[in-house]
Amino acid sequence: MTRRRWIADEVSDNRAALNGAHADHLTRVLRASVGQEFDISAGPVVRRGRIVKVADGRVEFALGEEVPAAALANLTVVLAVFKFDRMEWAIEKCTELGASRIIPLVARRTDTHLAAASAKRVERWRRIALQAAEQSRRTTPPEIPHPIKLAQALSLSGGMRVVLAESEEKTRLHQLFASSSEGDVVLAIGPEGGWAEDELRAFHQAGWISASLGERILRAETAAITATALAISLLG
Ligand code: SAH
Repeated sequence: MTRRRWIADEVSDNRAALNGAHADHLTRVLRASVGQEFDISAGPVVRRGRIVKVADGRVEFALGEEVPAAALANLTVVLAVFKFDRMEWAIEKCTELGASRIIPLVARRTDTHLAAASAKRVERWRRIALQAAEQSRRTTPPEIPHPIKLAQALSLSGGMRVVLAESEEKTRLHQLFASSSEGDVVLAIGPEGGWAEDELRAFHQAGWISASLGERILRAETAAITATALAISLLG
């Protein structure tokens, strides 16, 4: 069994701390007390941490030896904004699977109310991702920037950039991994209504490749999770 892992809010030399709701979660749920040991992700490294102080909204650790931690694949998931409960689920699962960056995108067919509300959702998405990252023993949570527009997504750099499209009839996602040795991958998943024709054309013109996940039409969150799982396992 690996130890519970916490991603520190603050680190300095041999000390780290969790603050606010993050600390309260540890205090309440796990009844944190002085002397308990956890793995603490402190920037790029994970170290053994012993609780030295528990206060309201703050838990402090003394950091000890480094714990070996696996590096994360460079996988970006561009997620068109869709119904928030399903979107949150997708963010949690893509985080567990190991996406290093999750970028919300306001697509043509993103519901206008969701699009308007999406900027205010980012903090919540980051909290969900932080918890999922800790739960899955990641070193860092995925980066989640503010929602972007298609034009910004098109100019994302990355080795292999793939737009998932149910209309793609020839290329399956896994085939792209078989024929490429690129380390960096960017995947884009459309909203509930799918990508608009001109959006797909714009992706292609910008050099993105379309790929299919099979014959079935998947819901956006299923497509996001399936594509991420496939990419992570094939990226090694
Ligand atoms: N417009 C579709 C649904 C879109 S599904 C409909 O007929 O109802 C939402 C998103 O999930 C798509 O934009 C695509 O990115 C992804 N997706 C769903 N099924 C897929 C498949 N079989 N292959 C590739 N991507 C898929």
